[in-house]
Amino acid sequence: MKRILITGAAGFLGSHLCDRFIKEGYYVIGMDNLITGDLKNLEHLFPNKNFEFHHHDVTNFVHVSGSLDYILHFASPASPIDYLKIPIQTLKVGSLGTHNLLGLARVKNARILIASTSEIYGDPLVHPQTEEYYGNVNTIGPRGVYDEAKRFQESITMAYHTFHGLETRIVRIFNTYGPRMRLNDGRVIPAFIGQALRGEDLTIFGDGSQTRSFCYVDDQVEGIYRLLLSDYVYPVNIGNPHEITIADFAEEIIKLTGTTQKVIYKPLPVNDPLQRQPDISKAKELLDWEPQVDRSEGMKITLEYFKSLTEDELYKSEHKDFSSYSD
Ligand code: UDP
Repeated sequence: MKRILITGAAGFLGSHLCDRFIKEGYYVIGMDNLITGDLKNLEHLFPNKNFEFHHHDVTNFVHVSGSLDYILHFASPASPIDYLKIPIQTLKVGSLGTHNLLGLARVKNARILIASTSEIYGDPLVHPQTEEYYGNVNTIGPRGVYDEAKRFQESITMAYHTFHGLETRIVRIFNTYGPRMRLNDGRVIPAFIGQALRGEDLTIFGDGSQTRSFCYVDDQVEGIYRLLLSDYVYPVNIGNPHEITIADFAEEIIKLTGTTQKVIYKPLPVNDPLQRQPDISKAKELLDWEPQVDRSEGMKITLEYFKSLTEDELYKSEHKDFSSYSD
């Protein structure tokens, strides 16, 4: 039985990856420090004899007993509000955490895939974004802590590949959505759906002309799965190229939820990328992968998930309190 370590296991993407690898017959070791992750996302796996969970912060030395075939490094705050609130932890998990996991991969002779992001392109001047584009990042802007941590993560991963011959994979993840997104993580999809369900106006940041391209989680997981098992070591974009403005997206949510609320406008956050759309030619060619779930279908499933939350969860809309966490 193949053994895989998944960091960030209690998060949105991490928990879906745990499910997928359990389904594929792997022994899955989930690891999370539970700052932004939630054990609720993994509860269903606890009775499974092929799953174990370690409550651990990967910025400290990581120990796993027994053999490991694969490591997926998905631990990181990943929503703009989260990494603005815990900037140092964000920098540490992308740098020190990645270093620890690369070291672990070496001693275990495991293949490691690291979760990079479309944020490494910053506020892109090239559209759509191909993997060859170097990006346009403000190192000292509020998003710099995430963007630069992820850029460093890519560099150190490539260095371990070229210097130590480690088997490495790098996925650049574009906006992804689906069940288990945290309602209060500040991202646009939970924000809009939460607002619609609570009967509040939808908050558009800026004039809403900025674009995003939203990928359904099952498609994202399929792309990551194929990349891990491929032999390609350079970064690969995984995302849905179907681009939409945030203003049009707000209208879609209003129709989907049937809310009678309106949109209101708030200031655009600093360095908020104006446009984002993945060029997925590489993933198509190398992995024979492209998204299968269109937005209307994916959003229906996602809405059902948010509707299934308790009143308490729905109204606990305050952003998560990180004050007890010290870097
Ligand atoms: N956004 C918005 N209203 C919200 C939350 C986000 O208009 O309540 C915008 C945000 O400014 C950005 C886009 O939606 O332009 C996507 O934001 P998100 O935080 O989901 O992710 P990003 O792609 O910026 O990392």
